[in-house]
Amino acid sequence: MYPVSCWLSVTAESIRNGPQALSVVAALLLLVNVANAQVVTAEPEYKGQDRIENWRDKTVLVVTPHPDDETFSAGGLLAKLAAAGNNIQILIYTTDNAGSNDPTMTRERLAEIRRGEEEDACAVLGIPKDHITWLGHDDGMLEYVDRRELTLQVTREIRRHRPDAVFSIDPGAPYEQWHKSDHRSGAFITVDAMRAAAWRLYFPELERQGYKHHRVPVAFFYYSAQPNYTVDITDVLDQKARAAACHTSQFGNMVTSYDDKNLDEKRESLRKLLLASPVIKRKEGRVVEEFRRSTAYGG
Ligand SMILES: [Zn+2]
Repeated sequence: MYPVSCWLSVTAESIRNGPQALSVVAALLLLVNVANAQVVTAEPEYKGQDRIENWRDKTVLVVTPHPDDETFSAGGLLAKLAAAGNNIQILIYTTDNAGSNDPTMTRERLAEIRRGEEEDACAVLGIPKDHITWLGHDDGMLEYVDRRELTLQVTREIRRHRPDAVFSIDPGAPYEQWHKSDHRSGAFITVDAMRAAAWRLYFPELERQGYKHHRVPVAFFYYSAQPNYTVDITDVLDQKARAAACHTSQFGNMVTSYDDKNLDEKRESLRKLLLASPVIKRKEGRVVEEFRRSTAYGG
C-alpha cells in the first residue's frame, strides 16, 4: 500500500491550492479510498534497501505490553541491533503482576520477579537495564487506564528518545479474538502515540516541558497477521532462546508453584525446550522473525 501519510499530504495540498489541483470532491474520494485501503489491504513484502538488521548507531524504541512479548517476537533482531551498537530502548506498559496462580504469590512480589526476569533477558540480548522504562500499570488492566493519559505517556517517551524505528504489537490482528486486554490496548495506544508525537499541537503540555515533536520514520509490528518483512536470526538463535528462558516464572510448574531454587538449571532446561517450540519460527531451513513494516503511522 502506498504510504497513507503521503496520500494525506497530497490531498491536503490539493485542497489548499483550489481548483487548479484536485477538486475538493476528488480529494475527499481519495480520502475514502485511503481509509478503505487501510482496512483491507496488506502492505507488500518490503523489497527496499533500508534493511533494519544492517542498521548501526540508530535509536530503536520497543513498546511492549508485558515484559516478554518483545523477547519472544523480536529478541533475535534486537540482539543483532544491540551487537551493532544501536541504542535500544524498551518501554513496558505493565508490571505483569497477575500472571501467576501460585497460592502464595502476591502482585508486588510477582512484579519484582518479572522486573528481574526482564532485566536478565535484556542483558542476554545486549540491552542494559537502564534502557528499560516501566509505565507500571497493572497486568490485564490496560483497557481501564485513562486513554488520554496513557497515550500521553507513550507520546512523551517517543519524543524523549526520538527513535528511528518503533516496534509494537500490530494494531488489529487475530489475537484480538482471544488475547489479552493489554495486547489490544497497547497495540492501538502505541500507534495513537506515534501520531501524537509527530504533531506539535497534540498534548501541548509536552512541548512546554521540552518534548519537541518527532515523526517516527518506520514501524515494525510484531504478532502480525500480515507480515511483510522477514529477518533471518539463525546466527543469534541461541541468544534468543537464552533470553526467552529468563522469563522463567511464565512457564510450566513455575506458574502454579514458583520456586527460584536452581534458577540457572531451570533456565537451561527451558532454553532447550524453547529451541523446539513455536516461539522459534522456522522458514525454509532458517530461523526467522517476521514483522509488518510500515511507514504509514508516523503522523
Ligand atoms: Zn503479553
